[in-house]
Amino acid sequence: MSNNLSLKYTGNPFVDAGIFALKRKLKKPINEITKEDLEEEILNIADLYVTPAWKKNMYSIFPNSTLVNSATTNKSNLNELYYQDLKNLIESIPNIQDSGSCVSCGRRDAINTFKKDNIPLSGSGSLKNYFSFANDGVDYCSLCVLLIQFAPLIMYQSGGKMILLHSNSEKVMNYWAKDAIKKVNEQIALGDYTGCYNEKYTNSINAIFRIVKKIIDSNELWEDENPSLTFYYFTNYNQGPELEIFSLPNGVFNFLAEIPSDESKNWSNIVKNAYINVKWDKVNSEDDFKNKTNEVYNRLLNNYSILKFFYSSKYKKSFCSWILVNYYMKEVRKMDEKRIDAIKEVGDKLATYIKVNDSKKILSNLENSSNYNSFRNTLRKVFKNKISNGDDELLFTFDDYVMYLFPEGNKTWRETQDLLIFRIYEKLHDWMIENNYAEEYENEFFEEEE
Ligand SMILES: [Zn+2]
Repeated sequence: MSNNLSLKYTGNPFVDAGIFALKRKLKKPINEITKEDLEEEILNIADLYVTPAWKKNMYSIFPNSTLVNSATTNKSNLNELYYQDLKNLIESIPNIQDSGSCVSCGRRDAINTFKKDNIPLSGSGSLKNYFSFANDGVDYCSLCVLLIQFAPLIMYQSGGKMILLHSNSEKVMNYWAKDAIKKVNEQIALGDYTGCYNEKYTNSINAIFRIVKKIIDSNELWEDENPSLTFYYFTNYNQGPELEIFSLPNGVFNFLAEIPSDESKNWSNIVKNAYINVKWDKVNSEDDFKNKTNEVYNRLLNNYSILKFFYSSKYKKSFCSWILVNYYMKEVRKMDEKRIDAIKEVGDKLATYIKVNDSKKILSNLENSSNYNSFRNTLRKVFKNKISNGDDELLFTFDDYVMYLFPEGNKTWRETQDLLIFRIYEKLHDWMIENNYAEEYENEFFEEEE
């Protein structure tokens, strides 16, 4: 019998994380991974996980396990004891079948039931209502249990808990595993064991965007990949297991991946501007702000509009070009491109009107409209004034108005307002400074060293 394990991804985030970690460690395709590979790799994790920093992490991942159980954790041969646990699992890997009772892979039978010392967030066994059919554990095959033991290699620490990434995109998972395993290999090479991936992000949402940025910046073309990313933010700690699940909308990933290089500094400043309570003149390093609440990140993750962060009404200034706003509206807000273009054209005409007529009043009416009716009335007024001034260019056609400016009437007019104002500021900012519409904008953010 071949010792090839015929591995396949299971859809179980813990098992799959273990498979991606193992695949990267071994640098071979998963369908070539053998029992001998596992025997080799369990030696490595047994030595790694008994180092103090890793062992400390294991309280939140595998509580009560040999690694952290008070009966064994201080023994000098702990690596051997843990190794023996893993070796026993290897020896009890059942044969592959067409179907099996393991709830994770469904291709092997579960010979034993397992609890939270092996399967994060399952249960302790003493409270049977945690498990289906009041079992005293959950049905996993030995192989899936063993694979989970590799998952900590690609977990990311944040504020005393762990972030586990799961994605339908192998490319996303491969890049993440590559980055995380590189850090593990560095620890081993330097003999400096610092535990699971840790960049001192205590704010879990900022940590998630940090992970996403690392994946996007891994220099891959993401066109057509359209990945969905789910982040499990958890602790399996005995005294209070917790779990929060964050899903990054795929439009947000696509937008972040599409930011053109000449807009990346603008985007970085838009993000910086969204941190709450940061005194930028007192910032000496990223550590001084990276854990503060960031409204842009929070809103992106919760699918709320961030259009207001693209401009400043106070300084009548846009913080990026229309190109970036266009990507955002298309990818994240799913706005039809014809609609985006139609709004841009009306914005250009309004900008010209305001400049030619030096009309601070029209601008402030557009900016300050707080309901759909007053906003429409201002547009109608410009429409009429243009005609009575003998201008034969219409501000918009009837079709533009119905189909593109306010297709859902009262529901989406704010988006149209934000976009029109953004475009007016983009076109007229310099002119408005010269003509005392606003003061010059000054804001220096902390810059990372290249
Ligand atoms: Zn299984």
